[in-house]
This record gives sequence, structure tokens and C-alpha cells, in this order.
Amino acid sequence: MEYRSGFCAVCGAQRKVERPGTNHVLHLLLTIFTCMLWLVVWFLVSVQFGGWRCTFCGSRRVSRVR
Ligand SMILES: [Zn+2]
Repeated sequence: MEYRSGFCAVCGAQRKVERPGTNHVLHLLLTIFTCMLWLVVWFLVSVQFGGWRCTFCGSRRVSRVR
């Protein structure tokens, strides 16, 4: 997990936010082994799980992450 500070729209306050960390080394190896086919999966995983989540209420309406 990766942690940052961000503004949660549901709490209306600055909260600690988290997101699952992506294992880029594993994805790189899989991409090599599958002759670049895994690159598509890597891209989809990055997009789908790239969102930040408020650790207080669990909301994904998080902005201004820093
Ligand atoms: Zn919240």
C-alpha cells in the first residue's frame, strides 16, 4: 500500500489516503515472458487500481493528493 495526504470530498477534510501499490518489477518480467502481451494487462491494472481511497471513510472521491 502507498500512503499520501489528500482531500476527501465525503469527509470534507484533509485525510490520509491509500492505494494498492503496483509491483512494476513483476509486471515487467511478465511482459518480457509473454512477448509484450502482458503490457495490456499492466496498463489496465494501472488504470483500474490507480485511484486513491480515503482511509477514514473508504471513499474514492479524493483529490489534491500530495
Ligand atoms: Zn473520507
